[in-house]
Amino acid sequence: MTSTVLDSALSASAFEPAQRVRAIGVSEILRITDHANALKRAGRPVIVLGAGEPDFDTPEPIRAAASRAMERGDTRYTVLDGSPAMKAAVQLKFRRDNVLDFALDEISVGAGAKQVIFNALMASLNPGDEVILPAPYWTSYADIVQICGGVPVSVPCGETNGFRLDAAQLEAAITPRTRWLFLNSPSNPCGAAYSAAQLAPLCEVLLRHPKVWVLADDIYEHILYDGHAFATPAAVEPRLRDRTLTVNGVSKAYAMTGWRVGYGAGPRALIAAMAVVQSQSTSCPSSVSQAAAIEALTGPQQVVAERRNDFQARRDFVVAALNRAPGLHCRVPEGAFYTFASCAGVLGRRTRSGALLQTDSDFCSYLLQDFEVAVVPGSVFGLAPYFRISYATSMAQLEEACARIAAACEALE
Ligand code: PMP
Repeated sequence: MTSTVLDSALSASAFEPAQRVRAIGVSEILRITDHANALKRAGRPVIVLGAGEPDFDTPEPIRAAASRAMERGDTRYTVLDGSPAMKAAVQLKFRRDNVLDFALDEISVGAGAKQVIFNALMASLNPGDEVILPAPYWTSYADIVQICGGVPVSVPCGETNGFRLDAAQLEAAITPRTRWLFLNSPSNPCGAAYSAAQLAPLCEVLLRHPKVWVLADDIYEHILYDGHAFATPAAVEPRLRDRTLTVNGVSKAYAMTGWRVGYGAGPRALIAAMAVVQSQSTSCPSSVSQAAAIEALTGPQQVVAERRNDFQARRDFVVAALNRAPGLHCRVPEGAFYTFASCAGVLGRRTRSGALLQTDSDFCSYLLQDFEVAVVPGSVFGLAPYFRISYATSMAQLEEACARIAAACEALE
């Protein structure tokens, strides 16, 4: 999608961006958030439920570890894909939480999980290589695949299977060009999570296709409710370990989105190729942020459970409120901090000003313009007609936002 932001900047300049940038444009989520913030600046009481980041501060012991690192003089370049101490912390985390054992040279640390994913695709994709993305998927996956010359292959995963990919769909999507399958559990945008039993049939399919690699994006691992046990492919099927990259990070679990630290663990040859990419882009993740991340991963983990309980209360509230709104339907997500509700029941209806709602984007524009709530249409994530709410915000904001959404649905003719 070509962005309007990019278009308007271009019309004022002779600069011609590369083809790969034109093909992608600025993230639709950022565009919606920008628009909502512009309305806010103009004095309108907009509630923005777009951002995918925790609303609490980075815990004090983590901030203190960063201060100590600065005082100590840890302010220089580190080893390019993570300091030895940081890699040791990641190693400990994988042993403690996932019963996965990695050597230090099987671990890569980058400026966020996003950079780790970027490095992995940059290091592995040749033009035309395909990457299977079960939809709905985090939009950045498709954009990063394209920047790296690959082809995103979206496989719609309907609500009847809990928005999860099943073995037959996976088998049908694999071609001789398939390089990667991406799995993201719990998922952004729909909160769906895979149990070990649900991953097993997918692993069976993958065992029959030895050229297909797996990227497990586990960034929402700790935000999982109702006693669901977390499962990740490399642990469920050890025979896949030599072609799985397990990605995680500190952004979501420890409210550290701005520190920019993420990591991945997988086969040595892939990790080495990713280091080549990183060496020519950022050189290394921030030294101070790595010190903070070490404290997050190895310090007391209580904060993770506390936040999970807060998020679960918000999830319960939002799901119940959406299900009471006429025309909306929301499945109970197992994890992450998003709901992905269907708006099929309001399509075909008209707003009071006479506009016909034909798509989930129409519904989201209506919510923003007429009821001042910013949410993101499902079509952005490859599955319509839905909309995503990020409930990583205060209960007071959520109560007001859900009341407005219900009023918006009731006002339709
Ligand atoms: N994966 C998913 C599914 C995400 O939602 C995000 C953040 N929105 C990331 C990865 C990236 O996280 P970070 O780069 O902050 O570690």
